[in-house]
Amino acid sequence: MGRRKKMVERVTALMNEPEMIRNIGIVAHIDHGKTTLSDNLLAGAGMISKELAGKQLFMDSDEEEQQRGITIDASNVSMVHQYDGKDYLINLIDTPGHVDFGGDVTRAMRAVDGAVVVIDAVEGTMPQTETVLRQALREHVKPVLFINKVDRLINELKVDSQEMQIRLGKLIDHVNKLIKGMNEERYKAGWKVDAAVGTVAFGSALYNWAISVPMMKKTGVSFNDVYNYCREGDMKTLAEKCPLHEAVNDMVIRFLPNPLQAQEGRTAVIWHGDRKSEIARSMATADAKGHLAFMVTDISMDPHAGEVATGRLFSGSLTRGLEVYVSGAAKPNRIQQVGIFMGPERLEVESIPAGNIAAVTGLKDAIVGSTVTTLDGMTPFESIKHASEPVVTVA
Ligand code: GDP
Repeated sequence: MGRRKKMVERVTALMNEPEMIRNIGIVAHIDHGKTTLSDNLLAGAGMISKELAGKQLFMDSDEEEQQRGITIDASNVSMVHQYDGKDYLINLIDTPGHVDFGGDVTRAMRAVDGAVVVIDAVEGTMPQTETVLRQALREHVKPVLFINKVDRLINELKVDSQEMQIRLGKLIDHVNKLIKGMNEERYKAGWKVDAAVGTVAFGSALYNWAISVPMMKKTGVSFNDVYNYCREGDMKTLAEKCPLHEAVNDMVIRFLPNPLQAQEGRTAVIWHGDRKSEIARSMATADAKGHLAFMVTDISMDPHAGEVATGRLFSGSLTRGLEVYVSGAAKPNRIQQVGIFMGPERLEVESIPAGNIAAVTGLKDAIVGSTVTTLDGMTPFESIKHASEPVVTVA
């Protein structure tokens, strides 16, 4: 069987197993390394070739496709990652890093359950780090931390091993103060990031390595080893021993919630209908047999398929030909194509169950923020707001 066909089988099998799905976003202040990290995760998972990471070209065993170099707008991508001998499907939503795109970050946060917050080890937290963190917490999206550009601490700032530990510790403390200041209840409920537990990883997206406490245990590479490899300029060995995608994806799978764990808390925040209703229960449990509840978070134009609505499916199943109500529209719409993501490619399927991020065509009345449902009169999801609030001051 060809590589592509195998991947199609893995992805379509995983979409039916919500425990094996993680819907996540990567958020960062501009230039802290979000793009470099995303491309490396995809390349590491074999979804794009390592040489082409950054150019966003889908890797395929089909040589012709490679030669044609299919370029895809990779605003939604997926990866299959193996953790503890099991396959997981990680759906990654792209979030713009620039401050002007705050609204888009909020949209992306609506679709996901967890976020990897990327921070430049040298620059530390910046205003946009605070904004994206606040947006995540407001949408009930759980954070983990990736401290990037650690190579710069050693090679540019020439800090010693002890100083490096102190700096990283201070950065983690600062992020925790922000989380506590923004949402104390969540902070106390275990959303504090903790290097000892494994909710913090640090490394270098540029040089393809990352480490965390669980990764140290797994690989036998110590903090001092990391420091020494960096100082000696041997990033290659470090990348072989501690590959970036493994450290980060392991952290995502182990510490960010799957849709079954996340949806009750998330829908309580983003949907204010009757909590005792059938649809509330169905969304809380990601019931694929319940009424449809799909929230549109992005609309894009596809040269072949036309307008594509991407979003998060909280309840029911999206099926080709299904007649649905779009919030605010007078008449029902009919779903034409239904797709999930495989790498940066959209893969057409018959039906997609709750818990997934899906792309559909045929929703001619949908806009970003629309609620799409089979339940006539369903209370729509809360509108997507990008509120700019004063920055939390941390002493
Ligand atoms: P984004 O704006 O957050 O998407 O940041 P990019 O991924 O575009 O990275 C911004 C710049 O930082 C680019 O020049 C990268 O090559 C560089 N960069 C990213 N990760 C690292 C890293 O781990 N170490 C170093 N030294 N530079 C990095």
